Amino acid sequence: MEQLPKYIQKVNNELWLTEDERDNLKLSYRIKEIVYAGHSPFQHVMILDSYDFGRMLVLDGVVQTTSLDGFIYNEIISHMPLNFHPNPKQVLIIGGGDCGVAREVAKYPGVEKIDMVEIDELVVKVCKEHLQEVSGNLSDPRVHFIYADGVKFAKEHNNEYDVIIVDSSDPIGPAKQLFELSFYQNLYDSLKEDGVMVCQSQSPIFHFDILKQTYKRINSLFPITKLYTAVVPTYPAGLWSFTLGSKKYQTVNTDNFDKDTRYINKEILEKAFYLPEFVKNQLNLE
Ligand code: SAM
Repeated sequence: MEQLPKYIQKVNNELWLTEDERDNLKLSYRIKEIVYAGHSPFQHVMILDSYDFGRMLVLDGVVQTTSLDGFIYNEIISHMPLNFHPNPKQVLIIGGGDCGVAREVAKYPGVEKIDMVEIDELVVKVCKEHLQEVSGNLSDPRVHFIYADGVKFAKEHNNEYDVIIVDSSDPIGPAKQLFELSFYQNLYDSLKEDGVMVCQSQSPIFHFDILKQTYKRINSLFPITKLYTAVVPTYPAGLWSFTLGSKKYQTVNTDNFDKDTRYINKEILEKAFYLPEFVKNQLNLE
């Protein structure tokens, strides 16, 4: 009998992916087909075709993005910093192997260079091939794929980027260091004097400790720190957070926003910074 990847179970002849990141919660998705499964030097990589969310990228058994809801995350993490900075030209993406963020950044004709530093070449390869609903047919000459550790890359660059987007997986395995203060310090140094950065900072419901730590770390380096949220159905508890650090600019400017998007619009860009009361209270924000 053909061996199933350890993250997939066969129950009554049906295939199920069960995410079991937490001790007391298991999330299961019924799967039509295992489109790809293999090991890279960094992680176990799968593309699955699910009944409810369409094709999905799964790393070490954890859903990263799906055809159905990936656009919400990819649009809000990308368009916010690109409209916070008035004239972004040099953009760095760290992680983002599904190419969904690079695809959004490429919608800005004023952007001259997009460096995408992804540790795992296999993720990019399989997403380009099997997850085109998220990756698009990305072949923009401004996108430079650099297969390297984002932590090391950030250390080696100085005063180079207008916008940095950290599209990381959860803070385990190769992504753990993408949540450290020293990494944020290196991002600060890699930005130009009016640069803007953003990172995903986990769930306000389940991971408030990580959110708070990320916010405090970025706030200790950047004069302007803003938290915003969006609901991403396939992330545990749905509500997700993003932390933005800006060296100079105070707010998002949507006057010229004209991009072809499915989630983002001017109103969402402006209102995403309105935070739920429990988030404000726990961060001691006014
Ligand atoms: N949007 C997704 C989420 O929030 O779960 C994450 C998308 S993306 C697939 C995350 C990527 O970060 C993965 O492809 C992973 O290989 C990459 N990654 C993890 N650690 C990294 C590191 N140290 N340097 C560069 N890329 C890294």
